[in-house]
Amino acid sequence: MIERCNSQDRLDPEVSVLVIGAGACGLSAALAAHDAGQDVLVLERDALPRGSTAMSSGFVPAAGTRWQRDRGVEDSVDLMANDIQAKNHHQANPVVVRSLAEHSAQVLEQLADQHGVPFELVEGFLYPGHSVMRMHCTPRRTGEELMGALLQACEKASLDILTECTVRQLLVDEHDRVMGVALQRPDGSWERIGCRALVLACSGYGGDAELVGQHLPYMKDAVFYGHTGNQGDALRWGQALGAATGDLGACQGHGSLAWPHQTLISWALMMQGGVQVNRLGVRFSNEHKGYSEQARTVLEQPGRSVWNIYDARIHEAALSFEDYRQAHAAMAVKSAHTLSELATLTQLPEGALSQTLAHVRTLCEQNQTDEFGRTFGPEQQLQGPWFAIQVTGALFHTQGGLEIDAQGRVLRADDHQPLPNLFAGGGAARGVSGAGDSGYLSGNGLLSAVVMGTLAGRSAAQFTRTDPLS
Ligand SMILES: Cc1cc2nc3c(=O)[nH]c(=O)nc-3n(C[C@H](O)[C@H](O)[C@H](O)COP(=O)(O)OP(=O)(O)OC[C@H]3O[C@@H](n4cnc5c(N)ncnc54)[C@H](O)[C@@H]3O)c2cc1C
Repeated sequence: MIERCNSQDRLDPEVSVLVIGAGACGLSAALAAHDAGQDVLVLERDALPRGSTAMSSGFVPAAGTRWQRDRGVEDSVDLMANDIQAKNHHQANPVVVRSLAEHSAQVLEQLADQHGVPFELVEGFLYPGHSVMRMHCTPRRTGEELMGALLQACEKASLDILTECTVRQLLVDEHDRVMGVALQRPDGSWERIGCRALVLACSGYGGDAELVGQHLPYMKDAVFYGHTGNQGDALRWGQALGAATGDLGACQGHGSLAWPHQTLISWALMMQGGVQVNRLGVRFSNEHKGYSEQARTVLEQPGRSVWNIYDARIHEAALSFEDYRQAHAAMAVKSAHTLSELATLTQLPEGALSQTLAHVRTLCEQNQTDEFGRTFGPEQQLQGPWFAIQVTGALFHTQGGLEIDAQGRVLRADDHQPLPNLFAGGGAARGVSGAGDSGYLSGNGLLSAVVMGTLAGRSAAQFTRTDPLS
């Protein structure tokens, strides 16, 4: 895990900034360090870099961007920071939250202008907890496309990404300075690479069943729908080095993974008026509270799966999401002209389903708030033809990790001072989603990956520029 070495021993080859992990965090960090004039190498365990990033919807929040201004959306750093903190019950480090909000617009605009990442504003609906439209994505609204754009940017910058190498050990001197890493190739051979600064961008521990059982026991038997290669390496290395950790019980769950097809069904369905019913044909929650905590609520229902019920208006809007189109093509989406037909298709009890939807109609007509706290309005009115899709609750990624400061420097547990040359972002670092599953504000994952990744890359570059050993 950690191999101690002598500070006089320089490794050959050696790069200025070494980045472990080629997801959004690693690639953003690498581009930032490269832009700052440093030689950079990214190490990735997979043959084709994808990470959780490629599995995501690719929505990155930012406040005060030109895309928002073009659409007349008024946003500010304060508003964004307040939204994040309100959702996480003020449990996140306010300094990190502020830094993310403050740099978000500049980072996204720089990725667009300097590196050709084609960001645009997501319009049409608000995710729970966001006061204004501030989600940015690439045109096809997929993480796959975001990853493609970041990889293309790295290629254009002639930035090196070494694939099929799993980093196993950090080589650390007597002052806890990382001198390099030892990595293993698929054929079992080992290589060593030296560095002046190291950025941990190898995400969280969602792919390690033991750590999930330890920190997220209620997710132990749930589907892990993130990247299985994220096995808690950053966490273990950091802990072995005496780094502080935080919010290890935090995660992004999702209450709407098509079941058994396992395709992400956007929460936009719920925000536009859809409802969830369990096998008894009854609603069981406020669907507008947040999709992360909804994972646990869905898993508590009989059979650990429920049905999203919605109508043709919402179905048409959902077709703008590639994941939804895939689910539709895979016949996961059921449609029916009458409720009776829908009940047959879904095997839901017809009487209970009709009663549930009649109640929803009344709530919409009367602008009422239901017993779960969800407020309905006429714009959410549902009417046939009807649509339904069976979903379960899943773990998407973990949000706890190594404690960092506003610049992405990893902090020690004993004195909260930065370790000499260790940086982290994305899923490797403690996020801004509080201590559990209910503090995740949509977009917190890629915010930490793209924006903190960039800040960590800049800090690593800054460190190597001023480092007396360089
Ligand atoms: C289905 C889904 C939908 C999501 N939607 C959104 C969304 O719309 N908006 C949002 O903000 N967030 C979303 N998220 C969360 C978001 O995807 C993550 O927060 C983000 O991608 C994390 O980025 P990362 O770079 O830290 O990790 P990753 O993208 O997972 O990259 C980590 C990389 O490190 C590599 N690695 C791990 N260990 C090693 C090692 N020892 N050696 C070498 N390489 C290693 C992995 O192979 C991987 O490629 C979603 C997640 C999922 C699963």
